[in-house]
Amino acid sequence: MSLELPDLPFAKDALEPHMSANTLDFHHGKHHNAYVVKGNELLADAGLSADTLEELVMEAKKVGGPLFNNVGQCYNHSFFWNCLSPNGGGAPTGDIAAKIDADFGSYEKFKSEFVAGGVGQFGSGWVWLVADGGKLKIVKTANAETPLTDGMTPILVADVWEHAYYLDFQNRRPDFLSSFLDNLVNWDFANENLAKA
Ligand code: MN
Repeated sequence: MSLELPDLPFAKDALEPHMSANTLDFHHGKHHNAYVVKGNELLADAGLSADTLEELVMEAKKVGGPLFNNVGQCYNHSFFWNCLSPNGGGAPTGDIAAKIDADFGSYEKFKSEFVAGGVGQFGSGWVWLVADGGKLKIVKTANAETPLTDGMTPILVADVWEHAYYLDFQNRRPDFLSSFLDNLVNWDFANENLAKA
């Protein structure tokens, strides 16, 4: 299979003022697209067999190097766009709300742990809410790494590469992460992922 750049699941200006159309122009149109183009170049001679993007990530992980970096970034970004919603943010709804209370103690404790995870990821990477062995936890990964390859089920992710927030928040990564949770996070998508865990 080859990689494709998915359409954003919202209008490019629908997340303003929290995430600008300018950020999405670069982040989706340039950065994500570059991973698709480079990944397909590298996949052309790799001989990997996969039916889904998730399977392709698992196969690419065995190869490592630039092939995994580009395939992993395609998976991570496609997942990230689905974590954003113009009607998102704030306290969770549905089954994920009770699960967060059970596993973190409260939504406020989850929020501080998620933001601390993203701030604590030195350099480029991602902060995730995952289900692991029936429990929710916060995981951070560097560069293109994903908890998928460690057998965990991704529930939510925030991109903490500087290209994700620098145009809107400059160096204020903590503010970007708080705004992601307060204004953008798509709890419906989190509930869909929880149902598969
Ligand atoms: Mn990114």
